[in-house]
Amino acid sequence: MKGLIGIDLGGTKIEVAVVDPAGQVIHRHRRPTPVGDYPATLQCVSDMLDHSLAAVSMPRPAAVGMAIPGCLDPLTHTVRGANSVVLNGQPMQADLQHLLGCQVRMENDANCLAVSEAVDGAAAGLSLVFGVILGTGCGGGWAIHGKARRGPHALAGEWGHNPLPWLGEGDLYSRDCWCGQHACLETWLCGPGFAADHAAHTGRIAQPPDIIAAMRRGEPQALASWGRYVNRLARGLAQIINTMDPDAIVLGGGMSQIDELYTALPPLLARHTFTRPIHTPIRPAMHGDASGVRGAAWLSR
Ligand SMILES: [Zn+2]
Repeated sequence: MKGLIGIDLGGTKIEVAVVDPAGQVIHRHRRPTPVGDYPATLQCVSDMLDHSLAAVSMPRPAAVGMAIPGCLDPLTHTVRGANSVVLNGQPMQADLQHLLGCQVRMENDANCLAVSEAVDGAAAGLSLVFGVILGTGCGGGWAIHGKARRGPHALAGEWGHNPLPWLGEGDLYSRDCWCGQHACLETWLCGPGFAADHAAHTGRIAQPPDIIAAMRRGEPQALASWGRYVNRLARGLAQIINTMDPDAIVLGGGMSQIDELYTALPPLLARHTFTRPIHTPIRPAMHGDASGVRGAAWLSR
């Protein structure tokens, strides 16, 4: 059969998908990411590609597309800016091309999300789309007329490493970010950041799904943690709206699947945007957590 191969390398999971020319995902396969182990990560990607090609009886393609949490440095062609820090500085594209025996086209994972959703997803046909991944890390990416905007330093969309704006009472402690700065939006808005904030205020270690379940039961501490989270996310996104006034913002990653976000965010955004009312649609990724692999698959065309 004929198809496009997309690979999404995340901090928690690796996913390989075969996408048909109409954009339908016809095969998906996931494995946990070998955390902190670069050679094992490469081998895992290779094994998964073999598995997927065999599952759909497809010959090895000339090229595959891959979403990575970071980017390829335009000068050194090594990985930079990945929150899976073991990847940084590695010539991953060259290493994988050697191991997989085909071309590997790499793009930042949030750029893949923005492109997938701008082409035929939650922001289909809109000219300027900001995609955000609220997952193990917190990435952003721009799609302009359906194409990823990289920029001369491959920096476009690295919103997660700007500081949290309009600091308030609940924000008066700060966390170091792996990138060398402190109080980056990522440290507050990624899933582990949400859990860390809950722990700092309550002394209780809990995973995001448990905190959300407690919030839905009306437990006051979980409600307060949720309130701080959506407020911070709104402040961060208000800066994006003030800067570029996108046609839509699409959210992906584990935290984006919390339905309450989409009713909580609009009134909070309007507190911080320079003008109001604000009508910027904030939508969950239509292709859900397949947006990364779908956007990556488009790269292999
Ligand atoms: Zn940072």
